[in-house]
Amino acid sequence: MRKLFVMGALSASVLLSGCQAINTTSGGAVGVERKQYMFSMLSTDEVNQMYAQSYQQTLGEASSEGVLDKTSNNARRVKAIADRLIAQAPQFRPDAAQWQWEVNLIQSDELNANCGPGGKIIFYSGLIDKLKLSDDEIAAVMGHEIAHALREHGREAMSKAYGIEMAKQGAGALLGLGQDSMALADTVVQYSLTLPNSRDNENEADLIGLELAARAGYNPNAAITLWNKMNQASGGASQPEFMSTHPASSSRIAALQAAIPKVMPLYQQAKK
Ligand SMILES: [Zn+2]
Repeated sequence: MRKLFVMGALSASVLLSGCQAINTTSGGAVGVERKQYMFSMLSTDEVNQMYAQSYQQTLGEASSEGVLDKTSNNARRVKAIADRLIAQAPQFRPDAAQWQWEVNLIQSDELNANCGPGGKIIFYSGLIDKLKLSDDEIAAVMGHEIAHALREHGREAMSKAYGIEMAKQGAGALLGLGQDSMALADTVVQYSLTLPNSRDNENEADLIGLELAARAGYNPNAAITLWNKMNQASGGASQPEFMSTHPASSSRIAALQAAIPKVMPLYQQAKK
């Protein structure tokens, strides 16, 4: 799941650059090896910095409304779990050790959680309270969200959206540095960051999240109980926000179940 963030100004140079195939993470025990196509000028740092601004704005608003929770038992749990998961992130990409990770809890009925580009985590208390999540289950959902950030699914969606817009408008339209390219940049960013993740991205986040949690000493079987709880919650009248982008389908649960044996030894090792 991702939240819309609006950029003040996106450098026009982004529009002029080419695409390259990379792999943001190493495959891990779960074997996530898909090549990703990124615009080389839309750098990781640039995306992370843009997101950091919108994250600070969200925190500022929560703080002024008195719902930024730094002290409750849930706030301490979320922080402790994040610390253990973040310590494992360099297993998938060494540069994550230098990221400016942050984790915050917002008091809200929303069933939602997110980790934006660059490691900016937000949890909403409704998700923990209404689904009565255990620490292992919080680790499962947080690991999934952290995996989206490690795989840079946000930057990848932006790169893909640029490609589509370029094809539509023709490369010639992108060579000017005036109003048109800025308007295009805005269109692309809004379009790419409000779309739900693809099924591929969701599967990758599930697998890497499962391994992060196992390496951090959280029981990987909690991923199954988590998604079963999500499934039950989505049966009600109002669809939780997280569920609109994360359907708890039987194929999702089956894929997680199949991957658990791969990470169980890592969990057992971490528990020692
Ligand atoms: Zn996801």
